[in-house]
Amino acid sequence: MDLFEYQAKELFAKHEVPTSAGRVTDTVAGAREIAEEIGKPVMIKAQVKVGGRGKAGGVKYSADVDAAEENAKAILGLDIKGHVVKKLLVAEAKDIAEEYYISFLLDRTNRTYLAMCSVEGGMEIEEVAATKPDRLARVAVDATKGVDVAFARSIAEQGHLPAEVLDAAAVTIAKLWEVFVKEDATLVEVNPLVRTPDDEILALDGKVTLDANADFRHADHAEFEDKDATDPLELKAKENDLNYVKLDGQVGIIGNGAGLVMSTLDVVAYAGEKHGGTKPANFLDIGGGASAEVMAAGLDVILGDEQVESVFVNVFGGITACDAVANGIKGALEKLGDEADKPLVVRLDGNKVDEGRAILKEYAHPLVTLAETMDEGADKAAALAAK
Ligand code: GDP
Ligand code: MN
Repeated sequence: MDLFEYQAKELFAKHEVPTSAGRVTDTVAGAREIAEEIGKPVMIKAQVKVGGRGKAGGVKYSADVDAAEENAKAILGLDIKGHVVKKLLVAEAKDIAEEYYISFLLDRTNRTYLAMCSVEGGMEIEEVAATKPDRLARVAVDATKGVDVAFARSIAEQGHLPAEVLDAAAVTIAKLWEVFVKEDATLVEVNPLVRTPDDEILALDGKVTLDANADFRHADHAEFEDKDATDPLELKAKENDLNYVKLDGQVGIIGNGAGLVMSTLDVVAYAGEKHGGTKPANFLDIGGGASAEVMAAGLDVILGDEQVESVFVNVFGGITACDAVANGIKGALEKLGDEADKPLVVRLDGNKVDEGRAILKEYAHPLVTLAETMDEGADKAAALAAK
């Protein structure tokens, strides 16, 4: 997950990386208020997940509160490389003597971590790499040793930072490494890392990518999710711990086990060829337990997809037997009530299949059709979707 600059700076603050004070807002009035609060010249900064904001007019120095308001007005709603600005960071403007570059990243090719550092900051690093490659240090970081202040100082030295700032830079760089490791990031980049006229070293920009595989270790990272940019159905599924991927078809799919769901997608797509080209609407694996709650959450997500015309529930009873699954479907339909308004084709097989089918037969819900086999179920569901 890529973070906005203001989120990256929240993590910087948590690990005591020196930066400039500021706050985020989504209104012009809010920007004015923050500028008043800071009481000094501020930078108005577009919060979009794309580089080169400065060049695109998304980063503006504002000498006073009126200028801050005017710049906020100009930047909110601006389109920067296809990203529309919805949020602004209003941060104290710092005096800059020099701009440097520092980053930590995962170097997959060399199976290690990499630090990149350069005295040539501010401009895009690709440009430095192309035009002044000798000014850009690439230093491998041993994951078992990490980056202490002494090593950080050596990285800064290799990046040709001036001798008089090496000590201060080393402290900031070591803290950035701490952000990288402790927050489970795959990228921490600061451009520019600035030297102020009184030789302070500050991170004035921040780009952080977090490793989603480590989300379970960081409950506090959930708030970083950009809810505006995520598909609302996928978001809802994620909130319910469902393994869901939206696709572009009409037949909703629920199954247990990734392999079974994958083959269900194939069978439904194949059946759809006979029924006006209907296609699977999603991937949804409800996993081993198919309780009423999980089934209801899954159905709820699928029925929220306006494209869906029918649903195929394809479950192979194992440790969770078919009777439990049947009760899960029953419970889900009761729970959803009128919200369940599309035909459901259910194919059960495996452990306690007879008991499971008996439960659904007896329940005799008008929307539910039972199928004997996976092919038959896929065909029925595709036909219902084509109607
Ligand atoms: P980017 O263009 O998306 O990388 O946005 P940055 O946050 O890096 O800002 C672009 C440029 O604006 C920086 O390279 C600086 O030259 C300038 N800038 C950013 N913050 C400040 C600040 O606090 N004071 C001053 N004087 N310039 C700043
Ligand atoms: Mn930058």
